[in-house]
Amino acid sequence: MKFRFIKGEWDMTKYLKLFINGEWIHSANPETQDVINPANQEVIAKAPKATKEETEKTIHIAKSTFESGVWSERTPGERAEVLLQIANGIEAHLNELTELEVMNNGKTIREAEADVTDALNTFRYYASLLQNQTDETFEAEKDLQTMIVKEPMGVAGLIVPWNFPILMSVWKIAPALAAGNSIILKPAEITPMTAVKLYEIIEQTDLPKGVAQLLLGTGSVVGQTIAESEGVDVVSFTGSTQVGQRIMQAAAGNLKKVSLELGGKSPNIIFNDADIDLAVDYALFGIFMGAGQVCTSGSRLLVQEDIYASFIEKYLEKAKTIQVGPGNNVNSEMGAIVSEKHMNSILDYIQVGKEEGARLILGGSRMEEVDLKKGFFIEPTVFTDVTSDMRIVREEIFGPVVVIQTFKEEEDAIHLANDTDYGLAGAVFSQDQAKAIRVIKKVRAGITWVNNYHLSSVQSPWGGYKTSGIGRSLGKYGLDEYQETKQINISMNAEQLDWFEGKK
Ligand code: NDP
Repeated sequence: MKFRFIKGEWDMTKYLKLFINGEWIHSANPETQDVINPANQEVIAKAPKATKEETEKTIHIAKSTFESGVWSERTPGERAEVLLQIANGIEAHLNELTELEVMNNGKTIREAEADVTDALNTFRYYASLLQNQTDETFEAEKDLQTMIVKEPMGVAGLIVPWNFPILMSVWKIAPALAAGNSIILKPAEITPMTAVKLYEIIEQTDLPKGVAQLLLGTGSVVGQTIAESEGVDVVSFTGSTQVGQRIMQAAAGNLKKVSLELGGKSPNIIFNDADIDLAVDYALFGIFMGAGQVCTSGSRLLVQEDIYASFIEKYLEKAKTIQVGPGNNVNSEMGAIVSEKHMNSILDYIQVGKEEGARLILGGSRMEEVDLKKGFFIEPTVFTDVTSDMRIVREEIFGPVVVIQTFKEEEDAIHLANDTDYGLAGAVFSQDQAKAIRVIKKVRAGITWVNNYHLSSVQSPWGGYKTSGIGRSLGKYGLDEYQETKQINISMNAEQLDWFEGKK
């Protein structure tokens, strides 16, 4: 595999660079972050830690480029053309991007390939949306024609997490560029590899210099500076609720728009009339896909009392067959945890669950097999006998850990489902369509499913209620996050108003 590992002047091997104003440059800060393969702890690159001054300079460049109009004043058709060039570039490098994602994040090849494919489809979707978007116009009063137009906001700061490095970057980059903004992407410090490759692809397109910048560095310096800066007009962030709250406070200075996609503790309700095999299949997919490091993971399983025993038997039987292993092994079905720090956080939660009195019925440990112990692997883990006040029921663990509760009646299921500060996702399994729809409409969450889990499309708005965030990604809603809306009132037959007549 060949990608831009740059030899640096410090005595180390592989350096990544920042991409500012169309150039790849070294950060002035000699301090670097080791980029680790979580499946074996090998160092795969050294990433720079951009400074506050570099971040401020980059924001200034993005602002000047925006004001110059080289991108912001291009027609939607011209912008669509560039988005298609980026999509084609991703398609041409699909294997390389997939391998980089596997190596850096630890996910499986199947998962990474799906992410990269979704990423290129997102660019294609926004290209087609641009070509189909028309302004609204109407006659507000006699001879007064009103136009409602959408305009870019200015500089968009895009802060992404480590769980879907390329996909979360693209969910923000594609609509932000489509709308005509200048952008600054800040990937998570530990997973910069696919962002670097994506910017190499962008560099080869007709996107003017200075429209898209890439800053590698820490959240506390680069992310915080972007969130606070008066030069940034909109911040789009995906990550923890705690950092989301900090970003909202930092954004208050210039009242910049914020779009936040945060955590979840999503309920998955299984009724006694569900197709049990289907429910087991999706319930496992709902929590163990991505090793549970997914914002919408179905981490709370609510099972109707009278089918609990038969459901659990089938659920455990299948859960025990999940093949955990390095993402680059085609047989692996669940990959590594992204970092040692995050693995320890998950293991701490498992310990908390035991101490709180929950019953551990599957897994619960780091995997110590010879081929896995060099990496960060945790067994699929299942707790039962939990109560609603336990931390493992209330807090986002963000790992392969599910808690199972039972309920008697429909109202109990709805009550349990909504007994959380979060409101990101939820699902219902039942063969009674009317009941399933009645219940899912009462679940206070933005992304929901009936008789499936995790299935969604680029057209559909993605985001949460309550502390799971503000705003929506994807679809036409995603474009709105990066646009201002203006009314233009045009007199078709202008006459003096004579409001002030100067009468004595
Ligand atoms: P964070 O929310 O800390 O990180 C997400 C992104 O925000 C990263 O790019 C990070 O930078 C950046 N960031 C951190 N601090 C700031 C700040 N003050 N201002 C601006 N940007 C900042 O997530 P963690 O990686 O710490 O994970 C902790 C928990 O967050 C997880 O256990 C999980 O519960 C949740 N999470 C939720 C995600 C989701 O999809 N909703 C995704 C990831 C995590 P950097 O890391 O480079 O310093």
